[in-house]
Amino acid sequence: MSTKIYDVAIIGGGPGGLTAALYASRSKLATVILEKGQAGGQLATTEEIENWPGTIHSTGPELSAKMLEHAQKFGAESIREDVIGIEADGFIKTIKGRNGEYKAKSIIVSTGAEPRILGIPGEREFRGKGVSYCATCDADFYEELDVVVLGNGDAAVEEAMYLTKFAETVTVVVIHEEGKVDATPVVAERAFKNKNIKWIWNSTISEIGGDGIVEWVKVKNINTGEVTDMATNGVFVFVGTVPRTKIFEGVLEMDDRGYLIVDPQTMASNKDGVYVVGDCRQKYLRQVVTAAGDGATAATVAEKYIHEEENFAEDVLEVDVPVLVAFWSPTSEASMKSMPAIEGAIEQLGDSVKLVKIDTYRNQRISNRYNITSIPTVVLFNKGQAIDTVKAAEISTDNLVSKAKALL
Ligand SMILES: Cc1cc2nc3c(=O)[nH]c(=O)nc-3n(C[C@H](O)[C@H](O)[C@H](O)COP(=O)(O)OP(=O)(O)OC[C@H]3O[C@@H](n4cnc5c(N)ncnc54)[C@H](O)[C@@H]3O)c2cc1C
Repeated sequence: MSTKIYDVAIIGGGPGGLTAALYASRSKLATVILEKGQAGGQLATTEEIENWPGTIHSTGPELSAKMLEHAQKFGAESIREDVIGIEADGFIKTIKGRNGEYKAKSIIVSTGAEPRILGIPGEREFRGKGVSYCATCDADFYEELDVVVLGNGDAAVEEAMYLTKFAETVTVVVIHEEGKVDATPVVAERAFKNKNIKWIWNSTISEIGGDGIVEWVKVKNINTGEVTDMATNGVFVFVGTVPRTKIFEGVLEMDDRGYLIVDPQTMASNKDGVYVVGDCRQKYLRQVVTAAGDGATAATVAEKYIHEEENFAEDVLEVDVPVLVAFWSPTSEASMKSMPAIEGAIEQLGDSVKLVKIDTYRNQRISNRYNITSIPTVVLFNKGQAIDTVKAAEISTDNLVSKAKALL
């Protein structure tokens, strides 16, 4: 077991995790990436990528390798590890892997999501060679070619419409009876009006085949059992995605599909110091660039979290004298008015009591922890414990001096 305490432990080395690692290590935080497979995640499985800004064309593995190298250049460690759980209640958190345990002050979860796999013959073999799960990513490879879409939810129907801008023919295979799709009516209506989409009803795809690349599919009518061969250059499968979040059940808040829920501005989860980025969180667009953006945000917020916690411990919890912690904001008139009374109390008390000011706007987390509902509020701490709370109306030099003296 490693005894090192990292500043940031990143679970999953896809684009989200690798970007977080770059930002964290470049900020001189001790950073470790725990990745169970190949660095780059889904990106590493992509033959070609054409929508990473500034790189007109790259292969997924190439871009993944560069992202890893970039993070390592600034000192991020990378360890092959399959994480099986976390304990995240205190400041120092534990990450449990199959090979060992790791300690870190903050955790960035970037375990990604995977497209739901149909499990039919040929699907795995031709992934990236005609079988795709992402039209935004791969549509332009099918310029003037024929493609088949499997699925009938919003993603399938919207992606089918997008594909008509590129492909010669787009055929959507739908398991339901004619005219019925699971997509929302407005989306379905638009798709039904699109003359470039053909529909095959009551059917599914039972096999995908070809010589090195996709050349045909077998379409099976689920009512009659009849199987028809159909020539095609590509198969887009949109039968949902599955987040890789099972190991966080009972610890991190997730929706009923398993996507982790975060504050979209900070990537903060329901646990202090634990952030979630990329495809495994609830979000609108699951792409490399959005995962990377999340990673940059999370690492920056994690750095702030660590400094705030360490400063608070050093200035308030671990000092030998009583501390008056003034929760205030320089933009609040009432706060500004109360400051002379608070500072007057410190003048009278001398070195026997310490004053620490916390701007509640900048440090909402610590304010919330001590249930600060209005400002100004002064909390008296002694030996690491919050002893007394003095609300605005009760703040006066005399009152603060007498409360502090009672602790001496
Ligand atoms: C075939 C394909 C083509 C695509 N093409 C494009 C494209 O052209 N452009 C684009 O922008 N997007 C594309 N995407 C989408 C893009 O790849 C994803 O949005 C992006 O990779 C998400 O990044 P992430 O870091 O959130 O997760 P992921 O890339 O899914 O990475 C998650 C990583 O976490 C690791 N992990 C999971 N669980 C654990 C665990 N318990 N312990 C340790 N490690 C763990 C996984 O092994 C994985 O490496 C494509 C996706 C696919 C599948």
